Amino acid sequence: MQKIIDGKAFAANLRAEVQRKVGLLVKDGGVTPGLAVVLVGEDPASQVYVRSKGKQTVEVGMQSFEHKLPDTTSQEALVDLIDSLNNDDSVHGILVQLPLPPQIDEKIVINRISPDKDVDGFHLDNVGRLSIGDPGIVPCTPLGCIMMIKEQLGDLSGKHAVIVGRSNIVGKPMASLLLMENCTVTITHSRTKDLAAECRRADILVAAVGRPEMIVGDWVKPGATVIDVGINRVDAGDGKTKLVGDVDFASVEPVASHITPVPGGVGPMTIACLLHNTLQQACHITGKSVPE
Ligand code: NDP
Repeated sequence: MQKIIDGKAFAANLRAEVQRKVGLLVKDGGVTPGLAVVLVGEDPASQVYVRSKGKQTVEVGMQSFEHKLPDTTSQEALVDLIDSLNNDDSVHGILVQLPLPPQIDEKIVINRISPDKDVDGFHLDNVGRLSIGDPGIVPCTPLGCIMMIKEQLGDLSGKHAVIVGRSNIVGKPMASLLLMENCTVTITHSRTKDLAAECRRADILVAAVGRPEMIVGDWVKPGATVIDVGINRVDAGDGKTKLVGDVDFASVEPVASHITPVPGGVGPMTIACLLHNTLQQACHITGKSVPE
């Protein structure tokens, strides 16, 4: 057990596991998993993510297909590309980097992706499956969080989990996953009355807010496990910027039994889980079992 959960090491282990299984799938099954990433526009943060995803995809032995489109791309053109990727047998996972430019309706594009290739787990089919507890594709960030929580705590049954944030990509799927592990789950948001008191009840506290260092030591029950999903770029005071989470690490770390740092906590797990989902779907689509 680690007090400061090393997300980088955890992600490296998961990637190594994916790489080993991809090797077996290629050798014994004749299938090379393929991940297509679609980037529309020039958003610098998105470009960094896409580059990193492509690099890690190739490192684990998968095929990476990058589609970079100008920010003037029409919805029709993007939907046509999705259709062709849906029909491409070498592609087992499709990820459309968000956000999309304003002329494109995100919901239409995401729901155009074949649910079997929706490795982000954002298609309504997969959202519905997760909410009723059926097997489907789980969004990468909450999947990474639940893997790390289970690794640290084992059985989560009966624990009180409090999630700060109710977004469709983090807060809500996180709640479904914790519920499936038999936690008692509280979801909080911007209209929650006395957020500090809600947080203090948590055995497992997941922060996915987007407010730098909002959660302080006084809000945390001694011995709680604290998972910080937040990624906020703030002024470092020396003319540079730095990344901080939604949790004030300095005051929370002495109180918590386990805590994820930012950077180096949840962040690295997100891409590792994307690769994990792509491997799973390559096996599912081609009718092969996932190598042991
Ligand atoms: P959203 O902006 O979609 O959702 C934020 C949530 O926080 C909303 O539900 C909002 O409530 C709630 N909230 C905002 N302010 C407060 C407040 N003062 N008190 C209580 N609740 C509040 O964000 P995301 O879920 O997409 O992302 C959350 C954070 O996680 C961001 O920092 C993001 O960068 C990071 N992130 C990190 C990832 C990773 O790989 N590590 C991946 C995805 C996100 P309401 O619904 O009422 O508005």
